[in-house]
Order: sequence, then C-alpha cells, then structure tokens
Amino acid sequence: MTEQQNIPAKEVAESAEKIAKRPKRVNKKKVCMFCADRSKVIDYKDVVTLKRFVTEKGKIVPRRQTGTCAMHQREITVAVKRARNVALLPFRGE
Ligand SMILES: [Zn+2]
Repeated sequence: MTEQQNIPAKEVAESAEKIAKRPKRVNKKKVCMFCADRSKVIDYKDVVTLKRFVTEKGKIVPRRQTGTCAMHQREITVAVKRARNVALLPFRGE
C-alpha cells in the first residue's frame, strides 16, 4: 500500500484546491542596479551603497537575490573586501 491510498479523497481535493489558490509567483525581472544607472560607480569607500549588498551578518548577498550582473557583482565583491580591510564594513556582523 502506498501513502497516497491512505489519504481520504476529501483531503486530496482540499490540498489540490489550496495549490490552485496559491498566488502565482510573478517573475519580475530584477535588473542590475549599476547597469540601470551608469552614473553609479562601485567604490569601496561608498559604504551606504555597499551595505545594500551585504547581509546583517556581514555576508555578501548572492547575485540571484540582488539581480546584479556578473560583472558588477565581481566589482562589488572586490569593493566589499577592500572596505572590510579598511574597517568600513565588518568581516562578521552580529
Ligand atoms: Zn551590471
């Protein structure tokens, strides 16, 4: 006997309904902040901008979350590391 057979038909219908009601995930294309605005320059001294790409714990936020392009993500990585070395950003936050 499989697990499927143990579930009452009513429950199966309810879970199917729940799945149907679940809001569809809208794919909103994230665009690279630095490609969108060419005037923005990634600088290790610009802590305000860099903080947006670093978690509370001090980790660099992955590209898939910020939408930054590969080229600019690389620049951010270098900038964050430089900022850490001159104590503008923490190596490890709280
Ligand atoms: Zn970019």
